[in-house]
Amino acid sequence: MDTITIRMPDDFHVHFREGELLRRLAYLVAQQFGRAIAMPNTLNPPIRTVDDAIPYRDEILMHSGNGFQPLMTLKLYPDTTPEVVRGAHAAGVVAVKYYPEGVTTNAEDGVSVGRLSELYPAFEAMQDIGMLLLLHGEMPGVFCLDREAAFLEVLRRLCSDFPGLKIVLEHITTAGAVEAVYTLPATVAATITLHHLELTLDDVIGDKIMPHNFCKPVVKRPQDREALCYAVTSGNPKFFFGSDSAPHPICAKECAEGCAGVFTAPVAMPRLMEFFETLGCLTKLDPFVSQFGAEFYGLPLNQGTLTLVREPWIVPVEYAGVRPYLAGRTIIWRIAE
Ligand SMILES: [Zn+2]
Repeated sequence: MDTITIRMPDDFHVHFREGELLRRLAYLVAQQFGRAIAMPNTLNPPIRTVDDAIPYRDEILMHSGNGFQPLMTLKLYPDTTPEVVRGAHAAGVVAVKYYPEGVTTNAEDGVSVGRLSELYPAFEAMQDIGMLLLLHGEMPGVFCLDREAAFLEVLRRLCSDFPGLKIVLEHITTAGAVEAVYTLPATVAATITLHHLELTLDDVIGDKIMPHNFCKPVVKRPQDREALCYAVTSGNPKFFFGSDSAPHPICAKECAEGCAGVFTAPVAMPRLMEFFETLGCLTKLDPFVSQFGAEFYGLPLNQGTLTLVREPWIVPVEYAGVRPYLAGRTIIWRIAE
């Protein structure tokens, strides 16, 4: 089998950045995904209302081209009112993202977990109109390997307080999160990244420090990685693809206080193809990347297709001053011209 054509996939978690990085790197997402959820914290200041979201959407469109559709989100703030939510929804914004205060890049000014109940009017409005709540599921202040586990009680509380609100636990990393999402009602789903399927903490600090594999939530233990692999190959529609591709300039990664984020966009679909093929589960790839997420978001499935060819290539060591995931390594599948 030297050519595979699948339904055009979607990426439900991307950091497009702004300025030069957006201009020079957006095509990498657009060439292999029909739509992508644009994270709101990726520019400074973050996307707070519809008045920020629309110009940002237009900017992404300008640099991505040929039929690509960015799906916009707001970042949840203490002043995210039901009016803000409704205004954004009317303009096509699909979700609101919650970053617990201080938990990751540009999350210093978020809402603390303890004050989340103050945002309940906004969540009620989202529940009413069918807007999704996306969660960066880590509890600030907890030991880093346990932050996701500690956050699951927040997820459970939101799920029971808003039984009609669709919630996505983003980039899950642990067996505990897989289990929680699996057992919670159908209103709760999760995205899983490529790098969390492939890496453990050994690939970050096991031997030498590998700053380009450092992300939040940090990759975890082998048994956690195995649980994620099981989730994506089980064919359960609660688990779908979100790359969390997050380009940072090399100097922001290779320094005394490096940023969190793995830049997987250049290799995402080719490497996923290889990953699923190696596991003998190629038939599970298509729904994971092009069906389950769209259905959970209430979007039509993409009409177009994506073709990959078996044609090994070496991943460049740099794209616009950013080092990609698997830099210098050989990847078996390539996106067809
Ligand atoms: Zn992210």
